[in-house]
Amino acid sequence: MGGEACVRRDVDLHKIALLRCPLVSLSEHEKWEEIVAARLIDGKALAQQVRDRLAKESAELLVQKGIKPGLATILVGDDPASHVYVRNKQKACEMAGIHIDDHKLPASTTQAELLALIEKKNADPRIHGILVQLPLPKHIDSKAILEAVSPSKDADGFHPYNFGRLVEGHPVFEACTPKGVIKMIESTGVTIEGKRAVVLGRSNIVGKPLALMLLQRNATVTICHSKTKDLPAVCREAELLLVAIGKAKFVTADMVREGAVVIDVGTNKLPDGKLCGDVDFAPVSQKAGWISPVPGGVGPMTIAMLLENTVESAKRAAGMK
Ligand code: NAP
Repeated sequence: MGGEACVRRDVDLHKIALLRCPLVSLSEHEKWEEIVAARLIDGKALAQQVRDRLAKESAELLVQKGIKPGLATILVGDDPASHVYVRNKQKACEMAGIHIDDHKLPASTTQAELLALIEKKNADPRIHGILVQLPLPKHIDSKAILEAVSPSKDADGFHPYNFGRLVEGHPVFEACTPKGVIKMIESTGVTIEGKRAVVLGRSNIVGKPLALMLLQRNATVTICHSKTKDLPAVCREAELLLVAIGKAKFVTADMVREGAVVIDVGTNKLPDGKLCGDVDFAPVSQKAGWISPVPGGVGPMTIAMLLENTVESAKRAAGMK
């Protein structure tokens, strides 16, 4: 990971980070030196480094094996946010030399029609990854759809086969968001092995796979959820605090151990339309050793990991991995 370390270590860059943070008011900007003690984990810059590396790897794959990595994107319905997410992923793919096979289907698409399309993509040798954008319309069984994607093209890492491989400690495709979080921790230079890690949230797409990835790297892991008793006390034990619950500014400074690495997966929309994480950024910054912002933290790394999964899949198909 040395080449992809992307942590802002100098004070001026902390100032930039604060200026980009929508949660920090102007008066706080003025006294920024007092506010930020933590070093910022810049997910956006780290993601750019990953994307640059993948662009090189894609170009090499094309020259050496005549293979261009291909990602099929499937979007059902008119949800505006989903259209934006898919477009952003497609743009990032194109810039990394990944071919996009775009499918936008009407909300009236039946489950059988969607399954038939996935079958076709499973059999297409030009496609190395299949992305089915969630959420799907209510009349479609999302679980059945995700299980229909071939485990060998499961770029999102959501298939039970790939989840099982992670559980047994031999992952193939890893879910993009937790994979990105691990790279962000690694970019700080803080070792994961032996650390006390606390994961807030136990969803199948973030909390659970992240806990397993930390375990695989020899952290001692606690998973917390809505029924956890005395959550602040458990959080205060964390040297690595990874937060994915979907509640704006939920983690306050009194829940954070001095010097901890704090990664904020949360993406919440405030009433004024601005994005904010699950961590109360400004006060927690004073206590943490390292912290990731929202936006500009986990989000860009999630997209970069989708690209990485697709390129790695194409390399496996070419017999290079
Ligand atoms: P989810 O499926 O809604 O799961 C939320 C988890 O948080 C659940 O396990 C829930 O516990 C737990 N939780 C909720 N309230 C809690 C509380 N008060 N105390 C302790 N635990 C609590 O959410 P998700 O899909 O994992 O997403 C979490 C957040 O990350 C969301 O804001 C989402 O938008 C964001 N996200 C961001 C990215 C990205 O790329 N940046 C990717 C994925 C998700 P129970 O299990 O007991 O209900």
